[in-house]
Amino acid sequence: MALVSMKELLIQAKQEQYAIGQFNINGLSWVHAVLDAAQEEASPVIVAASDRLIDYLGGYKTVAAMVRAMIEEKRIAVPVVLHLDHGRTVDNCLKAIEAGFSSVMFDGSHGPIDQNIRDTKRVVEYAAAYGVSVEAEVGTVGGMEDGLIGGIRYADLQECKRMVEEARIDALAAALGSVHGNYQGEPKLGFEEMEAISKAVSIPLVLHGASGIPPWQLQKAIRLGHAKININTECVTAWTAELRKTLADHPETTDPRTLLTPARSILKETVKNKIREFGSNGKA
Ligand SMILES: [Zn+2]
Repeated sequence: MALVSMKELLIQAKQEQYAIGQFNINGLSWVHAVLDAAQEEASPVIVAASDRLIDYLGGYKTVAAMVRAMIEEKRIAVPVVLHLDHGRTVDNCLKAIEAGFSSVMFDGSHGPIDQNIRDTKRVVEYAAAYGVSVEAEVGTVGGMEDGLIGGIRYADLQECKRMVEEARIDALAAALGSVHGNYQGEPKLGFEEMEAISKAVSIPLVLHGASGIPPWQLQKAIRLGHAKININTECVTAWTAELRKTLADHPETTDPRTLLTPARSILKETVKNKIREFGSNGKA
């Protein structure tokens, strides 16, 4: 199946009260793991490339070609979205769209809201001709974002309404206490604000920094309008732990496949578990 926009997938997920997982990739073997997990769980999936890592990954064209080719070679039949995560500039979003991404996030959350809306609108207008979906962020997710360490700033309800009405985005990341990276203690999401924003904007919400948020809070976030949940830290943590173990278990080995295959398997299992947790299994 060819790449799809996330617009229709998220509308359906919101209606049926489940969420689609976004899993960030760090190279070819990560694409294998995420696609295999989605196929085995019969789930739609969002494969994401972080704009921060785009040069490391080989550029927008390389990522788009790699994901498209692997969908074909593996005969992946579930809907796959290729999404740019935290697009740093309007220009970068346009490059990703031209390279063949089926969805982009423009993150203008660190600047003033007027500029964030204006820039997001430019991305939306450009994306429309390609049938590409657009996500925007209001407020600030805590922890590391775009390589900057920052505090949490809650999304403002009026700013969220303006963003949705003026920029006509498909999905809104309204920052409400979540953090990129590891949490210090129990995560505290702003559920009251979440409910108010969800009712006011009516489009699907996106939860960033969802690694480490307990299942009951994720379920509540889904009930309150989240149709996309981003997972990165849990994947990199599981992958790294397994790689360390394999290296220790095989001190003599120089075969990359022997060293990297167990980490890929653990990654696939981690993604499958999250898919089941989000309830998108069997929804493809
Ligand atoms: Zn994020």
